[in-house]
Amino acid sequence: MIDAHYHRNGYPAYLRTPDCETSFHGIHPWQAADSFDLDAICAQLMADPSSGVGEIGLDRLKAKTISDSQRKLFAQQLALAAELRRPVVLHGAKCWGEVVAACRPYKGRIPAFLFHGFSRSAGLLPEIFALGGYVSIGPALLNDHAVNYRELVKELPLERTLVETDMDYSLPDNDPDETLRQIVSTLAALRGESESALAARLADNARAFLQSLSGR
Ligand SMILES: [Zn+2]
Repeated sequence: MIDAHYHRNGYPAYLRTPDCETSFHGIHPWQAADSFDLDAICAQLMADPSSGVGEIGLDRLKAKTISDSQRKLFAQQLALAAELRRPVVLHGAKCWGEVVAACRPYKGRIPAFLFHGFSRSAGLLPEIFALGGYVSIGPALLNDHAVNYRELVKELPLERTLVETDMDYSLPDNDPDETLRQIVSTLAALRGESESALAARLADNARAFLQSLSGR
């Protein structure tokens, strides 16, 4: 089973396929107001050539206005991902349009984009796919009231789809494997596909997302 996006001990982010776990180094938009060390992120990326950049982006969930420091931090990290040719994991809660716009100049320069937890703004999907972007489907799919989300995931091109828990694996009450099983099962039922074929396809997609990293 793959998990395209999860955490350990807070912000450090990861992606796992059946064969390996990949780290993502970056400063989350929620940390933009804190003191942070972008040089340290750069050093981590240089020391680990098989790591990506994330979780980075913009956020309107915690505050209605996106601060200048958050925009600047996001721009700096996109530039870093382009310079080092690393895939990125993106956060864009309630402001996906702005995140997509910020990524636009990096088409072909950042090797892969993962729009993690993307659940709204279906109108942005053509541009996301034109960037070569992937969309990962999260536990919100398990909510029976998520009618629009369930419609959206039925229409996603399968080759651009991943699944994720966005859980913190270090918290003992979380059960990511069971959550992933339920997401894949629900997705397979919605799309009229077999669970095993879908799981295999998702693993192939995760490997394709990571293919720009050295040693893959
Ligand atoms: Zn996350």
